[in-house]
Amino acid sequence: MALIVQKFGGTSVGSLERIQHVADKVIKAREKGHQVVVVVSAMHGETDRLIKLANALTSEPNPREYDMLLATGEQVSMALLAMALNAKNCPARSYTGLQIGIHTDDFHTKARILNVDTTILLKELAEGYVIVVAGFQGVNTRGDITTLGRGGSDTTGVALAAALKAEECQIYTDVEGVYTTDPRVIKEAMLLSHISFEEMLELSSLGAKVLQMRSVEIAAHHNMPIRVLSTFTEGEGTLVTFEDKIMQKRLVSGIAFSHEEAIISIFGVPNRAGIEGEILGMVSDANIEIDMIAQNATGNSATDFTFTVQRKDFKNTMSIIEKISKKLGAASIKSNAQVAKLSLVGLGMRSHAGVASKMFKALGEADINILMITTSEIKISVVIDEKMLERGARAVHEAFELDKKLLENESAEIEAGNL
Ligand code: ADP
Ligand code: ASP
Ligand code: MG
Repeated sequence: MALIVQKFGGTSVGSLERIQHVADKVIKAREKGHQVVVVVSAMHGETDRLIKLANALTSEPNPREYDMLLATGEQVSMALLAMALNAKNCPARSYTGLQIGIHTDDFHTKARILNVDTTILLKELAEGYVIVVAGFQGVNTRGDITTLGRGGSDTTGVALAAALKAEECQIYTDVEGVYTTDPRVIKEAMLLSHISFEEMLELSSLGAKVLQMRSVEIAAHHNMPIRVLSTFTEGEGTLVTFEDKIMQKRLVSGIAFSHEEAIISIFGVPNRAGIEGEILGMVSDANIEIDMIAQNATGNSATDFTFTVQRKDFKNTMSIIEKISKKLGAASIKSNAQVAKLSLVGLGMRSHAGVASKMFKALGEADINILMITTSEIKISVVIDEKMLERGARAVHEAFELDKKLLENESAEIEAGNL
């Protein structure tokens, strides 16, 4: 009997009616002959509510207690779902991450799963139970509850599927699958039938929250196909899998964006060996993640630096940079905390020139100024004024015809390098 893992997100378990609906879906899968492990998120809005409570009490909540608090959200939905299943005569038992044995490292609020104990899962599956596991949480070596970062229930789902060697990990959410871009922002977005792990990894890391990045990493590592589906409508959804299993290939697959960014430039820094490490080292020593970096030597003796950080870190970063810049005698600093990052992702970029220029042209025609650019093998990211984000995303989406269905012969042509 094939084992599947089904993960249901916050909206999918957002009310008692919806929990009943999820129970019916799980029962349907059992009737088709599957063994089912279910992973649930907290009910919609609950994690945000808990975060607000913590922040109202203190600006720096103790990380251990913060995780203790946040993990309760999933405990509510898992118990309610197990009750709903039992009430429908389906034997089910719920477990927290700690109980089931989801072992993580010690990084409270963004812990990584190290291994999953399958003892209870295998025993109870064999006894005919549906196992409902609380997503987003685990336990560290000290026995303390940890959480996996926002969106972490996706990662619980995939980690369980990998540990149990499930046939597939199904991620049920509030849209029909993975689209060419966020369908709630750009209504012309198209549903993708397939996407490669590599592209999905980029989209997730660049802001598409439909799958948490770690879940895609684990899936690729264990060769575990993920299917993203809607809880509310029937359909095939999107299969996230290896590139060679995908028949219909597009030059670019999608656009991702993230709002809350800030950009900082320091001009006229003495150009000597090790200067980059000195400046950026102090920022990362303060536990601030630097995203994009560009350096531009403007003469023999001076260089300019530009980098981006998340907006929440802007103030702290600026105070560090102001200090360093005084110490180094830099000429000036310029910053903008109202910027956003827009990224285009596609495997086709590997073999096709001209993708970047087409993107820049589309932005130019939309009258959008680019503040910074970074590229890698399969992605191009630009920093732009946050107010221009939606317009920019739409312009790039149109320029690459992502709102149109792929023509029959088009993917073969792309592969052959003719398009
Ligand atoms: P869940 O609560 O089920 O985990 P999330 O809110 O975490 O759901 O993720 C689903 C949301 O991701 C969608 O409602 C959509 O707005 C957003 N999203 C962003 N980019 C994409 C994309 N490329 N395809 C589909 N959804 C996307
Ligand atoms: N409840 C957590 C969150 O809101 C985890 C998840 O939904 O995946 O981020
Ligand atoms: Mg999510």
